[in-house]
Amino acid sequence: MLVKPPTKVEIGIIGGSGLYDPGMFESVKEFKIYTPYGNPSDNVMVGTYKGRSIAFIPRHGRGHKIPPHKINYRANVWALKSLGTKWVVAVSAVGSLREDFMPGDLVVPDQFIDMTKKREYSFFNGPVVAHVSLADPFCPTLRTLITSVAQSLNVRIHPRGTYVCIEGPRFSSRAESRVWKEVFKADVVGMTLVPEVNLAREAEMHYATIALVTDYDVWAEKPVTAEEVARVMSENVEKAKRILAELIPRLPGPDERVGCLCETSLRDSLV
Ligand SMILES: [Zn+2]
Repeated sequence: MLVKPPTKVEIGIIGGSGLYDPGMFESVKEFKIYTPYGNPSDNVMVGTYKGRSIAFIPRHGRGHKIPPHKINYRANVWALKSLGTKWVVAVSAVGSLREDFMPGDLVVPDQFIDMTKKREYSFFNGPVVAHVSLADPFCPTLRTLITSVAQSLNVRIHPRGTYVCIEGPRFSSRAESRVWKEVFKADVVGMTLVPEVNLAREAEMHYATIALVTDYDVWAEKPVTAEEVARVMSENVEKAKRILAELIPRLPGPDERVGCLCETSLRDSLV
């Protein structure tokens, strides 16, 4: 029997490296979602937590099979939108470009710089044309909530930062890393934020990222072992799960007013 996916799953989580299953939902069901853009990274898990309905997509697929430059970002965002998702919390691993953003710290970026090269950036490839504003790319309501939840749990978190998104799957050269740090004045570097963030805006969803600092990028000349990286990553994923557990019940409900404009981003954007 084919079960139709639900349509009122207000909260979506896109899990990054190490977070393939939030492991805290109840009555989890899996859905294969079909989108006009092809398949999402994996089946979408839908469950409940403290009375809230939540969808979860592992960005790289379970078993980490899809590299950053091959992720079908449009299908992932579309799948969440088709389930009725309004709030998207994305989790991703990043390298640090500053001494004081230490491995193990969390960052809630407020800006990004796009250095990707070959991705599908938009749902609007004609004949309908839209130019959405990404001046402030992330949902301020969600960013504030994530930061305050982390602080209440005594998790080290930086409430703002600029995320440089590189194409990958290779890491930056030393010269590139110094450009991100010294010329761009960016704070963290990763491979998966763009175009997820733009697509979420086009889909009129509230979107924010919890960036988990895994190590210093190569500018720091601080080589780390794979073992150290793995340890920091698994600790970070545990922190992200604790934050999600506190955050989900605190997200505004369907009837609550929110101050941000995320849900009407297309109002003045369609040409
Ligand atoms: Zn918002």
